[in-house]
Amino acid sequence: MSTVGTWSSPFAFALLNGTVQSFPCISSLTSRLATTWSWSFTQTTMATNGEGPAIGIDLGTTYSCVAVWHSRDDRVEIIPNDQGNRTTPSYVSFTETERLVGDAAKNLAAMNPVNTVFDAKRLMGRRFSDPLVQNDMKLWPFKVVSGPADKPVIVVMYKQEEKQFSVEEISAMVLAKMKEYAEAYLGSPVKNAVITVPAYFDDSQRQATKDAGIISGLNVMRVIVEPTAAAIAYGLDKKSKFSIEKNVLIFDLGGGTLDVSLLNIESGLFTVKAIAGDTHLGGEDFDSNLVGHLVFEFKRKHKKDISNSPRALRRLRTACEKAKRILSSTAQTTIGLECLYDGIDFDWKVTRAKFEELNMDLFKRCMDHVEKCLRDGGMAKNEVHDVVLVGGSTRIPKVQELLQDFFDGKELCRSIHPDEAVAYGAAVQAAVLSGETNERIQEIVLCDVTPLSLGVSVRDGDMAVVIPRNTTVPTKMEEEFTTYIDDQTDVIFQVYQGENARTDDNILLGEFWLSDIPHAPKGVPRFNVTFEIDANGILNVSGVDKNTGKESNITITNVKGRLSKDEIEKMVRSAEKYRDEDRKLKRKIEARNSLEDYVYKMKGTAKTVTLKSKIEDTIRWLDINESAEEYEFVDKLNELHRTFR
Ligand code: ADP
Ligand code: MG
Repeated sequence: MSTVGTWSSPFAFALLNGTVQSFPCISSLTSRLATTWSWSFTQTTMATNGEGPAIGIDLGTTYSCVAVWHSRDDRVEIIPNDQGNRTTPSYVSFTETERLVGDAAKNLAAMNPVNTVFDAKRLMGRRFSDPLVQNDMKLWPFKVVSGPADKPVIVVMYKQEEKQFSVEEISAMVLAKMKEYAEAYLGSPVKNAVITVPAYFDDSQRQATKDAGIISGLNVMRVIVEPTAAAIAYGLDKKSKFSIEKNVLIFDLGGGTLDVSLLNIESGLFTVKAIAGDTHLGGEDFDSNLVGHLVFEFKRKHKKDISNSPRALRRLRTACEKAKRILSSTAQTTIGLECLYDGIDFDWKVTRAKFEELNMDLFKRCMDHVEKCLRDGGMAKNEVHDVVLVGGSTRIPKVQELLQDFFDGKELCRSIHPDEAVAYGAAVQAAVLSGETNERIQEIVLCDVTPLSLGVSVRDGDMAVVIPRNTTVPTKMEEEFTTYIDDQTDVIFQVYQGENARTDDNILLGEFWLSDIPHAPKGVPRFNVTFEIDANGILNVSGVDKNTGKESNITITNVKGRLSKDEIEKMVRSAEKYRDEDRKLKRKIEARNSLEDYVYKMKGTAKTVTLKSKIEDTIRWLDINESAEEYEFVDKLNELHRTFR
């Protein structure tokens, strides 16, 4: 490397003309010194010996989904949950006696609103003071407070005690449940997983997702972006070659968000070209419009306002979501709710036409985002080869129709269930990372790209890009910097993410200092700064003072409050404790149920007075020993078995 030859970089020019500040600062000295980090697949390929198959998890804002690749017959299988459903609500509910996750937790949302947590993904990797968090909080019935380093902390009552959980811990509970469903279904332990995140997730949001995976007891092989996962699923399904160049538009309309992404696929490499969307536009908004309409109809018919009864509203909302799903396949359905309000039963016919009319403005708004995405990506409609439907809400026929019209009648990719496509692709990725040898999936190059540029702040706030956006990761790039005032003994490296020329407009990821720099005129000291992104898209930045060879005082201060290793370990332990408690409780409930089943079965057959009184005694005992220990139920059952033998 010749540093002399690179003095003419734009930063050096600015260096000579820059105003001197008393605040220690750095200036960029050299042009880019890119070295693609030599990286081999084996680095992230996990041996699956004894660890069961690797799974793919779509950790959604409202629903999550888990899938696995079967190498025996070369196909992906979506794993159903304990209710037989293929997607699971991303809900966790805490009660006086237990912790529930998924369908059971969502069912409790009406009765136990303040202790039922959902939407955790909206908090992932964000600061409490983030205006988006502050806005979302207004809509949540559960409590969120500011924790250390401005991290949001969720506060609930669990077993009559106040408990605080980080967002990672809550998400880990959902992930652990998905892992458990996979283990139950596959009949083997599962350790390795690929987890998906939205394309707009920045570094700390990805890291937080990965930490959640670790806390749940998973080894996170890779965090990949949702549109890439969906594109993989469709590419595989259509049997098209990943090596042929293609532009794919991914239209993901889920429960609470719309994400539109434009991908380019070439030589097995997936590049996100542009993203657009709305963080508050999705299935729940369609439900809300239907709820609003029915509240109005109830008032018209019964002259009563149910909107002041949270319980009635919650029941109505659940019924509306169900009706909405039915209306995706039929033209009309009936909502029937007994004693909805003031003892009044509510029966109402809803047609697909009415549902569409209520939501037409929102549907149209979705199309505006498609247009914006194409505009940002500099692409015409007819340059898009495939339009892929993702997200449960794209099952709505009107949404499909509008999208198809937008693309001048082009056939949409809809062969895979839209709410399963992301988990499907994640499962394929997990298989590739596990060393799966299927020819087709091996075409997928295991690379991702940086969604935004990364760099440091120089002089008085200019962005010096070290890793440009759309760089294939993993990658390692170096840049050289120098002081910009005489005798500067400290420099601060502030790491930013974003495309703006001024760092004020970009996102601050972290910062660290290099201290005890020997006195020298400005421009003489040399600092080598290395940006390294690993295969999970996680960034590490380090700096060396080249004159002294000292790699001193290099700590990334995590302004976004990333979890430390110790904190993660502590959370892993407490997650295990909670899982243990859940398992114990489950066994206890099963033991109680077996005893009850047996008692009531025998009640009809008991002939003698002794046997009859034995049964009555046990029923009485059950009544007053609601929360006896597992062994007590087992003992009682054994005792009865002996009596009735
Ligand atoms: P997420 O946004 O969490 O990724 P999904 O992609 O699974 O979640 O989308 C969930 C949304 O899809 C919910 O609002 C749900 O009501 C809606 N949905 C699921 N199935 C249908 C259907 N058949 N018709 C209309 N909406 C549906
Ligand atoms: Mg989703």
